[in-house]
Amino acid sequence: MKVGLIGLGIMGKPMAKNLLKAGYDLSVSDLNKAAVDELVAAGAKAASNEDIGKNCDVVLTMLPNSPQVKAVMLGEGGVANYMKSGSYYIDMSSISPIASKEIYAVLKEKGIEMLDAPVSGGEPKAIDGTLAFMVGGKKEVFDKFQPMLSAMGSSVVLCGDVGAGNTTKLANQVIVALNIAAVSEAMLLAKKAGVDPQLVFEAIKGGLAGSTVMNAKVPMILDHNYKPGFKIDLHIKDLNNALEAGHSVGSPLPLTAAVMEMLQTLHADGCGQDDHSAIAKYYEKVGGAQIGK
Ligand code: NAD
Repeated sequence: MKVGLIGLGIMGKPMAKNLLKAGYDLSVSDLNKAAVDELVAAGAKAASNEDIGKNCDVVLTMLPNSPQVKAVMLGEGGVANYMKSGSYYIDMSSISPIASKEIYAVLKEKGIEMLDAPVSGGEPKAIDGTLAFMVGGKKEVFDKFQPMLSAMGSSVVLCGDVGAGNTTKLANQVIVALNIAAVSEAMLLAKKAGVDPQLVFEAIKGGLAGSTVMNAKVPMILDHNYKPGFKIDLHIKDLNNALEAGHSVGSPLPLTAAVMEMLQTLHADGCGQDDHSAIAKYYEKVGGAQIGK
């Protein structure tokens, strides 16, 4: 099976390497030539988006957001123009589920089936091949590509029709953002009330309030280490998509809207490239105290 992957950024590059390790015949494309060269050295073929569309049985994308995915697939000279009926498209980017459905509507007319298959796990899990895939699409298409996605991830779950993958990803991103904000709010309370946040963390992490987010982010907050990880600006993108998707189905998101304003404040303050654990900086600023040492 000939596979084409467009988008070799933080995530796409290690995912492409795992496809090569699993033995797939892989062609790659990115605006960044250095990333393409690195994959060619690892065994992939460099190709234009047009060649990927013409020659590959399945096209994968790992791009920033809906506008980039739409431009690459459906824009002028877009990949979809060159894809054959009976070929497949899998978008692994985290985009709006509304956009996923719009793209699928166009592809379906051309006889191309699609999965939306965003991931959770970040760069370390992309490197290890242990990402969690949340997938939308037809069951038979999911079954066909489950082994390929398993070359990049340790969990691959079909969540519903096209769009369901990105809706699930948005639910994940809402929970993570609100969880970081809750942890930051609570740790500032402890600090200002004279209790060491490190001891609060030790005392509560094994109880009901404990979480993967708490374990990953509190040590970063206490160390003032905001090296990404997952950037504030990417989380703004995801919460924008969550608010748009929520409002389109009449689902209110008051807490998401509140945390979005914290992220926007941080972005305006020059912290857009910080890890999203820097939500703690917002609390430190409005609370007038440092959470960490
Ligand atoms: P990134 O910005 O590092 O990579 C995006 C890549 O797309 C870049 O290499 C860019 O050159 C390329 N690109 C953009 N337009 C292109 C075009 N027209 N043709 C070819 N290449 C093009 O982003 P990333 O961190 O790899 O994230 C990709 C997606 O995965 C995003 O939707 C993100 O939200 C999601 N995601 C990221 C993480 C993470 O921790 N970084 C975790 C889970 C999901």
